[in-house]
Amino acid sequence: MVSACLLGLPTRYDGKSKPHSEVLKLAEEFVLVPFCPEQLGGLPTPRPQSEISGERVINELGQDVTDEFHRGAEISLKIAEIVKPWMILLKSKSPSCGLRKVYDGTFAGRLVNGMGITARALKSAGYHLITEEDLPISSEPRRDPLQ
Ligand code: SF4
Repeated sequence: MVSACLLGLPTRYDGKSKPHSEVLKLAEEFVLVPFCPEQLGGLPTPRPQSEISGERVINELGQDVTDEFHRGAEISLKIAEIVKPWMILLKSKSPSCGLRKVYDGTFAGRLVNGMGITARALKSAGYHLITEEDLPISSEPRRDPLQ
């Protein structure tokens, strides 16, 4: 599974994508399942930018979108249960997909240590998570988790 925007799908808040050359290379060799938690949670595209602020997720208009973010995480988990991915590749710094750092909730471009809402849920469920910053993968990835 992979954050859809990394595969060039226009799912980002600004209606654009964030294609990554190493992710596109992986797509030549592996079956990748794209998903976008924010769209799955019912948010429109384009949409106002959001950041995590404490236990809530607030967009740049001051609207609370916490429920939509959690719904997106729940549906992403359901997809993972169906797909059973050997790895999930997430877009760094996103309030949904970010794995190590997220923006601090002030919309001032400041990063803090933390995980996006969907990344947290996937991590808690035990999935192996990386971001595009970890590519290229140094060792040969397993093709089948049952092997
Ligand atoms: S929620 Fe994740 S997949 Fe969707 S646009 Fe943001 S970073 Fe990409």
